[in-house]
Amino acid sequence: MLVTISSPGAAVDATGYRSHPVGTRPEIASASRPRPLTLEGVSFSYRSDVPVLDHVDLHVAAGEFVALVGPNGSGKSTLLRIALGLLRPDEGEVRLFGEHPEQLSQRGRLGYVPQRPGAGEAVSVTVEDLVRSGRLARVGWRGRMRAPDREVVRHAIAAVGLDDQRDRRVRELSGGQQQRAFIARALAAEPELFVLDEPVAGVDVESQMLFRASLVHLLEHHQASVLLVSHELGAVADDLDRIIVLKSSIRFDGTPDELSSSGVALGVHRADLPLWLEGVV
Ligand code: ADP
Ligand code: MG
Repeated sequence: MLVTISSPGAAVDATGYRSHPVGTRPEIASASRPRPLTLEGVSFSYRSDVPVLDHVDLHVAAGEFVALVGPNGSGKSTLLRIALGLLRPDEGEVRLFGEHPEQLSQRGRLGYVPQRPGAGEAVSVTVEDLVRSGRLARVGWRGRMRAPDREVVRHAIAAVGLDDQRDRRVRELSGGQQQRAFIARALAAEPELFVLDEPVAGVDVESQMLFRASLVHLLEHHQASVLLVSHELGAVADDLDRIIVLKSSIRFDGTPDELSSSGVALGVHRADLPLWLEGVV
């Protein structure tokens, strides 16, 4: 089944801030600035005989909260890596804030939490140092951490519930806590586009709710856009503007209501989504 539904029209908020509760607010217009993310006709394969992405069109507007879902192996992580310029598409165009991803001058505008962030990174630093490094990416390595920056770091650590772990080494934390430390590092940059690859897989309900609160803070106070890959949308189901279903190509792109009217009750029977994906995609 192929369902293509265009996203709802955007509306300008005169204050420039989201004054509406997440989930009911209109989109913030991006008329004056380029869209945070656009992919057009993107195709990619790791090996020439196995296409992973097939003519994918996808965009994220300013202030939008978009979930990207699909079965394992459907190309979600690959799509994110292409979107961020970590892989080049075989065909198609990618723009981040209107620029070629590899030429994006201010990387601090982007927050990325990869699927397994701890792997391959030196995590002998403390939680506080890791999160500070996220803030430094924003103020510049030559810049100074001022009081407001330290406050942002403190807030990011609190937002993921790691207050009492701030002086511990990241590698000594549990997997779920490590994941939250990396989320806090990305939050500390106050990114304009926040890209997360399965950040709450296996994380307890309390952490999921903390995670939701920190995303809502970014959306409401910083007009950030969020692109979230997750199988567990329960915690954020009511906040989403749009859901995109991927299996090599885009199988659905619309609002949660539109997805519901195609037979999936995301908010009420949240467990339906993976079942639906198994059956339909
Ligand atoms: P998802 O994140 O949706 O689970 P991925 O983007 O990780 O999917 O993978 C899509 C497909 O590409 C899978 O078939 C996977 O085995 C393959 N793949 C992923 N990474 C690599 C890689 N580095 N080299 C070769 N094949 C890969
Ligand atoms: Mg993946």
